[in-house]
Amino acid sequence: MDLDGVLARLFPATCVGCRRAGAALCAACVAGGEDEQRFVAGTLPVIALGVYAGTLRRAVLAVKRGRRDVADALACALFERFETTLPRDVVLVPVPTSTARRAARGFDQGALLAAGLGMRAGLPVLCALTERAHAAQHGRDRAARLAARDRFDSATLVAGTRVLLVDDVVTTGATLRDCAAALRRRGAAPRGALVVARALAGAAERSGERLRA
Ligand SMILES: [Zn+2]
Repeated sequence: MDLDGVLARLFPATCVGCRRAGAALCAACVAGGEDEQRFVAGTLPVIALGVYAGTLRRAVLAVKRGRRDVADALACALFERFETTLPRDVVLVPVPTSTARRAARGFDQGALLAAGLGMRAGLPVLCALTERAHAAQHGRDRAARLAARDRFDSATLVAGTRVLLVDDVVTTGATLRDCAAALRRRGAAPRGALVVARALAGAAERSGERLRA
């Protein structure tokens, strides 16, 4: 038994959805998502595994707390759900976490998701986007957000490539639109975005009520 096997035996993973031992996110909890989301952000088609509530919300939060095994389980879920619809000629580009959060957390959850997905799908991953300093959207009013439209920059080596953006949570889609704009400025062709969960107003609260019922 290798070291990973020993560690798994000593500290068996617990499902973030149902808390049963065995997997970071068990098959039953992944399969429970019947609320797949498809919408358009600007001109960018976006697909999400489901609504940001219940198991998916717990999984996303677990990743933010450092559960890399859950990030890999989510990447696996994205691959299994969308394997047949994934374009074969794209480069996966993660939406970057703000520099301050990445420094505090020690990793970038979008990059983890893209790496896990790319490995399974045989697609290249390029961390081509960076957030310009002091441009974080958090806490800005609408006018400041509009002024910060160019808050992302993209590496020039994406020029001429088709890109699929990868992120954990999408809310308004503004971040995805800004990332797509940064890629286009560098000559890339963003084709769409693959996201774990779509935050809808009130969905987490409604999910909480269902769980209690
Ligand atoms: Zn489970």
